[in-house]
Amino acid sequence: MQSLLQSYYFSSTLNVMDGKGIEAPAIGIDLGTTYSCVAVWKHNRVEIITNDQGNRTTPSSVAFADAERLIGDSAKNQQTMNPANTIYDAKRLIGRRFSDSKVQDDIKLWPFKVVKGSADTPKVVVTYKGENKGFLAEQVSSMILGKMKETAEAYLGKEVKDAVITVPAYFNDSQRQATKDAGTIAGLNVIRMINEPTAAAIAYGLDNKSDIVDKINVLVFDLGGGTFDVSLMTIEEGGIFEVKAVAGDTHLGGGDFDNRMVDYCAQEFKRRWKKDLTRNQRALGRLRFACEKAKRILSCATQTSIDLDFLHEGIDFSIKFTRAKFEELNMDSFNKCIETLDTCFSDAKMKKSCIDQVVLVGGSTRIPKVQHMLQEYFDGIKLCKSVNPDEAVAYGAAAMAAKVSGCSDKIVQDVMLHEVTPLSLGVNVKGGLLTVMIPRNTSIPKSVAGICVTSTDNQSTMLFEVYQGERSKSKDNHFLGKFIISGIPRAPKGVAKATLCFEIDVNGILTVTASVISTGKMKKLTITNAIGRLSKEKIEKMVYDAKKYKVKDQEFKKKAEAHNALEDCIYKMKNKIEERSVKESVHHEILQVMKKAIDKTSKWLKVNQAASFAELHSKKVHLEFVRKSLF
Ligand code: ADP
Ligand code: MG
Repeated sequence: MQSLLQSYYFSSTLNVMDGKGIEAPAIGIDLGTTYSCVAVWKHNRVEIITNDQGNRTTPSSVAFADAERLIGDSAKNQQTMNPANTIYDAKRLIGRRFSDSKVQDDIKLWPFKVVKGSADTPKVVVTYKGENKGFLAEQVSSMILGKMKETAEAYLGKEVKDAVITVPAYFNDSQRQATKDAGTIAGLNVIRMINEPTAAAIAYGLDNKSDIVDKINVLVFDLGGGTFDVSLMTIEEGGIFEVKAVAGDTHLGGGDFDNRMVDYCAQEFKRRWKKDLTRNQRALGRLRFACEKAKRILSCATQTSIDLDFLHEGIDFSIKFTRAKFEELNMDSFNKCIETLDTCFSDAKMKKSCIDQVVLVGGSTRIPKVQHMLQEYFDGIKLCKSVNPDEAVAYGAAAMAAKVSGCSDKIVQDVMLHEVTPLSLGVNVKGGLLTVMIPRNTSIPKSVAGICVTSTDNQSTMLFEVYQGERSKSKDNHFLGKFIISGIPRAPKGVAKATLCFEIDVNGILTVTASVISTGKMKKLTITNAIGRLSKEKIEKMVYDAKKYKVKDQEFKKKAEAHNALEDCIYKMKNKIEERSVKESVHHEILQVMKKAIDKTSKWLKVNQAASFAELHSKKVHLEFVRKSLF
């Protein structure tokens, strides 16, 4: 098994070196619902890359302000001031249809607008530079991936091309395809997509434990910003990962804990000042920001304080928060997490005592109470938490990226991974039943072919409807797409035949082909356009748009810098002519000329806020020229 896997990996070796070559190494990206993280294999180990704000995780938020587009921390920081144009949670939309009940439920909670686009795809609508603009979830995610790419490029000093991106274990084919498309739009070559819990297990080297006799059972407990996912996996010798069961709550996470703190503070404010701040959006936003910060502190300190000047109606607010209070406010949520474990075990028909390793994932598992309750639940088992839980997924992805791209380091070579299909894949046959072509838990990649025959005399077309799921009635499963092959030569029923081939690649992405076998001639059709999937042309257009946005962002930055430079120049010159030594040594008339030039530029700047980079720059050059020619 091992040699097979190894040869397989090396067959996909790309032209990338392990950081020493000319090209940048492949990176690993954890594209999260609320926060994303990027890592790379360097100096014989995984390095988590900090962003331009010095943070190791970056908010998965994109905002459209008056004149500029913001991504990451800067987007999240202005969210309260600009809620309708700040997009987050794009991961909840990706690969889903607008009519999906989950999408409809989420729309009710978001402050930004989501409309129905073509082919039932959801589109987020924002106002940017006075115009309405619609973005698909793939585009929003591509902006975040682009930011992660830039973060890595700034660190590595080279252009990054290849990346491994992680997805939740329960993501279906459309969600995986759409995530891959987002990578392409961001200018990335997605060399592999792996499941988040698998990546976390790789981070702990669980795929390669020498003490795996037959197989080990691993529980991955992922409590993040807005979602809670439990995955029960078995890892067999040779790195075969099988997800046995998934459970969780799609709306439970750190954001809820923040909200509890906010509610508590608002009540306290009301009690003290008899004033309600809950309708003051700005106050609420500032409070939420402070509460998240306090919550993080409470994971290592037992008490902290929140101090906000002029919070509401000019009143300063200050409150002491203890870890005990925080735990009390969120105890019901913590209990819910533990109860979910019971469900997961009964689904998998397993006992909790079978678990060999418990892996902590997600920023919220840094909360000591959560760790404590989990450890108690597993009768004192030692938790895997030496890798920061909000970085573990990116960590595993980076190790995988190095492995796939052919890094020669011994530790990386030992990474082994062989995933299985999470759900069965099949076609609808007569009577509305699903014929499974690739059963769930099949090791990937896999290719399966079957023969189909016509069911009526002189049948000239065949319709193939592809589904994913475990139910026997096709309609009860997730519909992936359909296609028709026509031009079947006339013949009695059962005579004309077609080959149907299901091919699932290493990323868990499916391609279905059908070919008519008639007098030696073959006709072939491929599903490349499963429902809602972007066409090649559309992706190319989006890649182009993404670059355009990037150029616009850079232009804005350049302009803002030129604006600041001119302002700075005016300020410095104003001060200079006020200096005593200058006043004494330079002729009064010359100083007057200089003062006039400064005032003129200053006035011009005030009325020309929208001036271009070239105008701003030339004004500065001119002002400096005047000064140099005078003294
Ligand atoms: P995602 O759920 O998007 O994958 P993360 O796993 O990074 O994102 O989790 C983000 C959540 O973790 C946020 O709600 C954040 O406030 C929370 N978090 C991060 N660090 C801590 C900490 N030290 N203590 C408690 N919560 C934390
Ligand atoms: Mg996560």
